[in-house]
Amino acid sequence: MKNLTILLLLFTAIINGQNDLPTGYFSNPMDIDLILSGSFGELRSNHFHSGLDIKTQQREGIPIYAPADGYVSRIKVSHYGYGKALYIHHPNGYSTVYAHLQQYAGPIQDYVKKQQYRNESYEIELFPQADMLPVSKGELIAYSGNSGSSGGPHLHFEIRDAASRPMNPMLFGIEIPDTKKPLINTVLAYPVGEDAHIDQKQNPMKLRLILQKDGSYKTEKITALGKIGFGVSTNDQLNGASNKNGVYRITSNYNGTEKFDVLFEKFSFAETRYLNRYIDYGYYQDNRNRVQKLFRESNNPLSIIKNEDESGYITVADGFNSNYVIAVKDFKGNTVTITIPIEGKELPIVEPKKDDKTDSYAYSNEATAFTKGKFSVYIPAESLYEDTYLDIEANGDTLHLHEDNIPLHKNITISVDASNYSESDMDKLFIGRLNWYGDPYYNTTYRQGNKLSARVRTFGNYALVSDTEVPTITPLNFSDGKWISNNETLQLKIEDELSGISNYRATLNGKYILTEYNYKKDVLTYDFDDEVVTETENKLKVIVTDNVGNSTTFEATFFRKPL
Ligand SMILES: [Zn+2]
Repeated sequence: MKNLTILLLLFTAIINGQNDLPTGYFSNPMDIDLILSGSFGELRSNHFHSGLDIKTQQREGIPIYAPADGYVSRIKVSHYGYGKALYIHHPNGYSTVYAHLQQYAGPIQDYVKKQQYRNESYEIELFPQADMLPVSKGELIAYSGNSGSSGGPHLHFEIRDAASRPMNPMLFGIEIPDTKKPLINTVLAYPVGEDAHIDQKQNPMKLRLILQKDGSYKTEKITALGKIGFGVSTNDQLNGASNKNGVYRITSNYNGTEKFDVLFEKFSFAETRYLNRYIDYGYYQDNRNRVQKLFRESNNPLSIIKNEDESGYITVADGFNSNYVIAVKDFKGNTVTITIPIEGKELPIVEPKKDDKTDSYAYSNEATAFTKGKFSVYIPAESLYEDTYLDIEANGDTLHLHEDNIPLHKNITISVDASNYSESDMDKLFIGRLNWYGDPYYNTTYRQGNKLSARVRTFGNYALVSDTEVPTITPLNFSDGKWISNNETLQLKIEDELSGISNYRATLNGKYILTEYNYKKDVLTYDFDDEVVTETENKLKVIVTDNVGNSTTFEATFFRKPL
């Protein structure tokens, strides 16, 4: 009997593969209800979401407590991305990550400020020794915020394994109520084989969904032949919020045989950009709707796809009726199924595969170089996921470098011969990606003689742009020569029209002061709490430089009662 129990336990462990995870080890990092605006594995721009986005009641400053004992292993402060981020290493080998913080707490905050002043830089990355900043379970470590590339106040929370791979925090017993089924947005069918068709067409087709009484879906019956595949766009909804989150698992079967299995439990940062291979990238660019392809194509090494031997495609034979069934699950097991009835039929093709042949062809496994007008483009091997015809045209200082309906995995290089510009004008040039309105977005531009180059990771329109305008600096809550004893902060608006702000530096009476740059509001803030102002008359100096080196100096005097 005892042996049987052990055997059963072992068997369950093998099936789940999760039994070794410490559930109950990490507590809720905030004293508020866990309501999510983002889930683990959710499909985002160029990446899978690596943690939970926990709502913070539309405000900043919610206390964050260490969910377990450990020590601060890393601190990173950046204008973009995670903003103010904190990493805690725990003795069980896992780490927890907190991002978009408003500020750190206690000795952590003191340490960061000290290092920022020492480095004379707001942006900083620190790796404290294990004994430097220990934390115990329940200790206040930070306050939630909206820093970095965050679109609203929330805490981004991650659990990473010993190899720094983000894991689904829900696997650790973090309880989030969810009684709602996933939503199904779109189902696409893809004819893949040379002679394959779906309803006599050789191009991807959107299937009409018919809701059944039990909440499941059926699509209209399709006629098909040959090698085909399917894709689904889906979201999960959790209790207490209307946010559209990611699902936990999608499986599919063909007449009862499993075909595809994608599971959002763990991935590595090295593979996260393969999201662009996994989703129908072109469909997303046109429709802003991410369809997950339920088949593994070449150059897709994603470990979240669990079926190793099979690609996920099916082969439909003439005269054979069958069903393809997709099942979408959330973490709590709420499931929606979609049944696609298929009639195998050899029929004449009425809509052949669209082909956009151009004179520029690039192989995915070889490096390719193109020259058009004064531009040249270098595409390294493995930048493209598949061999592709590219539409590349140059017109004076503008380059049409295909459309952004094809993803790039690696950086490609755009170079421009700028020898028609004078030596001094050349210094003010940069390569910018043009948005829909034709406004340029700065790319780090290198100059070598008369050649300018930039490394980019999206197709689209680019141009050689000249920026001769200096940044602007405008005080927001003070003016020159005034008393401001009651101000808690100094705030200035700093802006640069074309190439954008590269760096900034502020001094008070000749001494460096720490200012925080919020790129979303174009605001630079100095906090009077940081350093005690000892003078009555204070001379403020702020220098802002743009990406091509144009710079502006702002000076003002203010009066303040010394503390
Ligand atoms: Zn997040």
